[in-house]
This record gives sequence, C-alpha cells and structure tokens, in this order.
Amino acid sequence: IESLAEARAGTADSPGTWAPAVAAALGLPAASALGPAGYYADLAAPHSRRHVRVCAGTACFAAQAGRHLPDVEHELGVAAGRVSPDGETSLQTIRCLGYCYTGPAALDDDTPCTGRTLTGQLAGRAPSRAPGIPVADDTGDPVLLGTVLAGERPWQVWPRTVTAGRPDEVQREVAASGLRGRGGAGFRVASKWEAAGRTPGTVVVANGDEGDPGSYADRLLMEAEPERVLEGLALACFACGAGRGVILVRSEYPLALARMREAVQQAYADGHFGPSVHATDTRLDVEVVAGAGSYVAGEETALIASLEGDRGCARPRPPYPTRRGLWGAPTVVNNVETLASVPWIIARGGEDYARRGTPDESGTKLVCLSERFARPGAYEVELGTPLPRIVTELGGGLQDGSELAALQVGGPLGGFLGPDALDVPLTTAGLASRGAALGHAGLVAFDQRVPPREALRHIWQFAAAESCGACSPCRVGSRRGLELASAGTPPGPEWERLGRVLAEASLCAFGRRIPPAVRSLARAYGERLPGWES
Ligand code: SF4
Repeated sequence: IESLAEARAGTADSPGTWAPAVAAALGLPAASALGPAGYYADLAAPHSRRHVRVCAGTACFAAQAGRHLPDVEHELGVAAGRVSPDGETSLQTIRCLGYCYTGPAALDDDTPCTGRTLTGQLAGRAPSRAPGIPVADDTGDPVLLGTVLAGERPWQVWPRTVTAGRPDEVQREVAASGLRGRGGAGFRVASKWEAAGRTPGTVVVANGDEGDPGSYADRLLMEAEPERVLEGLALACFACGAGRGVILVRSEYPLALARMREAVQQAYADGHFGPSVHATDTRLDVEVVAGAGSYVAGEETALIASLEGDRGCARPRPPYPTRRGLWGAPTVVNNVETLASVPWIIARGGEDYARRGTPDESGTKLVCLSERFARPGAYEVELGTPLPRIVTELGGGLQDGSELAALQVGGPLGGFLGPDALDVPLTTAGLASRGAALGHAGLVAFDQRVPPREALRHIWQFAAAESCGACSPCRVGSRRGLELASAGTPPGPEWERLGRVLAEASLCAFGRRIPPAVRSLARAYGERLPGWES
C-alpha cells in the first residue's frame, strides 16, 4: 500500500496508468495493485502538485453546518474529488483529520489549516492556524497523559519487566485490571492476549487507524505520548510471546506518523527493541506502517487485510485473528489507547487500575469534545463519569450561548442523544441504555444551526462514502439511504425495508450499526424531524 501511495504522489492520472507498474516491480499481477488503488481514498483521489484534503467529518460539519466545503471548493476553484482547470490543485474530502476541537479543518499538502478563517488560510490571505489539542485530567492521577500532564519519564516499566523475564505477570496484572479494548468493541484485553496462546510467530498490531469522526484521542497519544504507546506495545508483545509489533497509523495524521517513526527509531537506539532487548534473549522488531484512507480498515480483520496489501475490507470470522491473522500468523490487534494504558497497569498494579471506573468497565478514557463546546479538548476521565458532568462542567456547555440540539457519541454510527437524554454514565452499558455506543468516546455537539434533515443526510453520506463495499446490503443500501435522505423521503415502508436488510444481512458491524444510528438521531431530534418522531 505504501508503494502505491508513493506512486500516487503528485500524479492526477487514474490508478490504471501507474498502479500496474507497482505490481510488476513486486512481481505481482496488475490486479493485485489495481484493487487497492481503486479502493483507498488516498490512492483513488487524483493528486496534483498541490493536494488539499478538506475534512467532511462530523465535528467539522457541525462547526458550520457543512458550509465550509462549498466555501473551500469556491475559494480553490476546484470541486471535491477533482483537479482544478489549470491542473495545479486537487481537492479531496476526508472523514476526519482529528482537528475536531478547532474545525473546520483541512490539510494543505501536510500543513494543517483550521478554524473560522479556513478558506482565507487556504487562499493565502491568513496565516495557517492549527492550535495544539487542549488537554486536561479529571482523574487526579492520569493513566494515559502522564508525560504530557505530569512530566513522567517514559520507558520506566519495560526495561525492568523484560529483564525480570516474567510475561505471565504482565498477563496477570492486565487480567486483574479488567482493561477492555478502547477501540469501540470493548473486548477484554487479557482474554484476547490469552486467545493467541503465546503461539510462536504471534504478531501484535497497534491499531492507530482512528476513524471515528469526533475522536482525536489516538492522534493525541501518538503525537504527545508515542513512547507510552510503544511501551504498551512492547509489554503486549512480551505477554503474548510475540517477536514482532506493527503500528498502523492513518495517513490523515501526518504528524502522528512522523512522531511514531521517530519514537521507534529512538527505541531501537536505546535498546528497547532489537535482536536482544536490554541484553536479554527477547527479540522484538517493530515497524510503523501508514494507512491510505479507509474508515473500515480500522476494523481488525480489515486492518489485517490492509497490512497485507489488500483492499481494507472486513473478513468473515471465524477464524479470529488470534488464530489466523496477519500473513496467517496468530495476531493480536489492540487499539493505541488500549496499549497506552498498559505501562501504568504494570507500574501500579492491575488492582489499582480496577478501582477506577465502574466494576464492569474499569479504568480511564480519553473523551474528546468538539469545537462547538465552550472548552473543547481531550479530557482523561474515569469510565462511569456522568455525561452531564463532561458536557456541562468540563466542556462548559456550548460556546456563544448556543443550545445543544443533539450530541453525537462514538462517531456517526455510535448514536445521538437529545439534550434531555444525557443523564447516563460514560460507559458502554450506560450509553447502550439510550441506544448509543461508546466507540472512541468522541462527543460532537450539534447546535440549532444544523438543520435536522442535514444531520440525517450527513449520516447517510458518511455511510455511503465509507462502506467498504464487500457485501451488497451495505454497499447498495448505504447509497440508497443517501438517495432517500437527499430526496427528503419521509419514513415509510421503503425505509423500514432498508433498515431491516442493513441490520440483518450486513457482513460487519458497520452496516448493522447504520439503522440504530439513524433511529437514535430521530429520537434525539424528536418532533424537530417531522415524520421521524417514532
Ligand atoms: Fe463492508 Fe459495509 Fe459489508 Fe461491513 S457491512 S463488510 S463495511 S460493505
């Protein structure tokens, strides 16, 4: 995929003109390159000398009710997905760039431009502006942001753990902590590690393909705490008996990609990775791989397909990746935030970690608040923190005295809550009781300026654009939903049929989550979305 991305750079030609040569150089048939080249957004989009990626993710959409996209197209004189008449500029829409706290956002080549003056920045009338992520701790003792907020030195745990040579103790502490995956599925980490069974050849993959629009927690960790992520990966490899770790970082995060690469290089130089880690007989090889733009490739089977150079489509399970994953090897896929929790757990003990949060959902979580909040930013909170505290006390409510119309939790397919439905704890179970999902815990506030029908259309646009296309219920159904929503079709038998097909016949959770997300939006807006109240 990286070879294809290199070939793509700087050419507005279609993949058919450059992808076959990449395959030939690798001794592969042309189809093996044409498939991925037509699939990944970065590879399929034409690239001119100047390539602008504008965010069409939910937080940027909510910031100006979606008006920034036509404004950018007008300013640059090029439609999204096209090249300007003079051939100099190409424009690509992205969901999302991780600047949800200061949107709308764009990357002008790799230079971020954000905020109300976005079009002026892209036109060169204003200096480019991309403030750092505001961060705060609500726990009194951060697990994830120790380096950023408390000045802790990285790499305090790994050298002594690998020297002690007790992987079973790492496994035991993580089991005692009750840590669950932070990527959305919430599977118990210790159970996943156990399922790989310390089989020789096991690989651990750090999933840095944070696709949920509204969340920038993984971006923050990879940019500001890359050593913590790597230390967590090293500990996970040790516990799983894996000699190889891979970190996939999405291409929409160029700074995170650079930081992770620098941190890996430094870790080799400091003896944390290599053929004989800290003079022990533990071997650990770690590499960083760049994604190429696919939401679904964040799902673990799709992520593995992507790392194998294939289209990033979900694969049927079983076999589960812990039995047969990357190149057929047992593979443990853990999200970046999950891995970043592990050093603290090993340093302080699993039981200490388990005392935080709730009995069923222990620990802390990074919650990301969008630009519409008075105090947007990433907050480390204990799981179980009441949602009203996060929205009102930490986030300060909405800026400019705006009223909250709906709150999106966990990405467009996570779900929406109305302002009268916020009285739940921030847990998977608490949000599920309101028909929403925790996902990556990105909270995107919609105010009254976003017309409810546009919010509905936004979900279908997202679904149609990001469906991987591997199964027809979702591939065709998401496009049909967008057609119906764009035409303003009121609820009725066709919507019902569509919802049933998506929920019952989609291959992966992406398609199955579309109907509940739409239902949650209808509930959140109530009578403000006429005809959809029930
Ligand atoms: Fe791909 Fe959608 Fe089918 Fe999932 S449900 S495999 S995203 S087409």
